[in-house]
Amino acid sequence: MNVFPELSPSLRTIMTPGPVEVDPRVLRAMSYPILGQFDPEFTNLMNNTMAMLRQLFQTSNQWAYPVDGTSRSGIEAVLTALIEPGDRVLVPIYGRFGHLLVEIAERCGAEVSIIETTWGEVFDPQTVIDEMHKVKPHLVAMVHGETSTGRVQPLADIGRACREADVLFAVDAVATIGGVPVETDAWFIDAVIGGTQKCISVPSGMAPISYNERAERKILSRKRVERGLRSGQQEKVEGFRIQSNYLDLSQLQDYWSPARLNHHTEMTSMLYGLHEGLRILLAEGLEARFARHLLHEEALVAGLQAMELPLYGNPACKLPVVTCIEIPDGIDGESVRAMLLERFSIEIASSFGPLKGKIWRIGTMGYSCNRKNVLHLLGALEAVLLRHGLKLPAGAGVQAALDVYDKHERIA
Ligand SMILES: *Cc1c(COP(=O)(O)O)cnc(C)c1O
Repeated sequence: MNVFPELSPSLRTIMTPGPVEVDPRVLRAMSYPILGQFDPEFTNLMNNTMAMLRQLFQTSNQWAYPVDGTSRSGIEAVLTALIEPGDRVLVPIYGRFGHLLVEIAERCGAEVSIIETTWGEVFDPQTVIDEMHKVKPHLVAMVHGETSTGRVQPLADIGRACREADVLFAVDAVATIGGVPVETDAWFIDAVIGGTQKCISVPSGMAPISYNERAERKILSRKRVERGLRSGQQEKVEGFRIQSNYLDLSQLQDYWSPARLNHHTEMTSMLYGLHEGLRILLAEGLEARFARHLLHEEALVAGLQAMELPLYGNPACKLPVVTCIEIPDGIDGESVRAMLLERFSIEIASSFGPLKGKIWRIGTMGYSCNRKNVLHLLGALEAVLLRHGLKLPAGAGVQAALDVYDKHERIA
């Protein structure tokens, strides 16, 4: 009989756009004893998690709860709930995750219209608004922070225009929530999806979502039709029931409501982790947390620029939590990544689609976003690039980052 080795993962410095390092307090919370799903203690935990999610999403929505599954499950739950076959959906695409929205919307039977802009850029909001007036969709679905290109799309004007035109507005804020402001109510977002394993820094496995009454009306109208049919009434079918059982938001919200109608069995240990992660995040404070992400971005960027490494993309719309570097000519990007991992135990990310082999992506998210990691990475990257024969001003990267930290400490 085979005896498999005991699990002993290496201690990595993770500087990717997710999954990122996790606060030991979250890992500890995930090892606590199991509670039954209808135990009043567990109910209390669910309620507190919802209250914390409302603060995180900056919303007064009643509905703010996690969907069980990775962030993609939240996206799929929201789109599956808000799109009925034949609905018109507009998806503005500026990177890989825009294509994911299209793919899911198509599976929901939507008539999808897309507009695309060059990767490395975002949309002028007016372009999206004009297209929305032209297409007259039921729903506009769009990404807030594109991890594939390291860009962030301003959403407030688009949200306001959608609200004025009575169009639903759904946003993938998986990469930004907890690291960059996401103002659900102020930006008129009807449904928003977050991710745990990025700036919230909780392991992958849940997708916090929030939606308002406009979104809920759409969801419940579909449910009503189904109930009518079940009871054998001769009701005219004017809607389609949500095709997924697991991701049916009308059932999930009943489960998260005071009625606690059983749907699935809540992921006990994941919820402990999310609860602790949110508690830590809110104790730090949203504003302080956003400022921390900006500080380490500034230090990282200063270091990379001092090393004369060109950054990818339009700096005016740079996503603070993802920094993309153009791989210098003659350098094998994968070999550099492999040496960083093997020699320094640091992981940075490669890239997808048209950018494959062209850029590296460095994440500064959540618990991974700290001075130790930034300085460690800059020093290691310099050593690895020198080892690969690249000529660069030795020592300059770490010094430039230290200058940024010194400057901020003087200010503080
Ligand atoms: C990471 C990411 C996703 C997918 O998240 P999973 O947890 O892997 O399902 C979706 N959208 C964006 C913008 C992301 O960065």
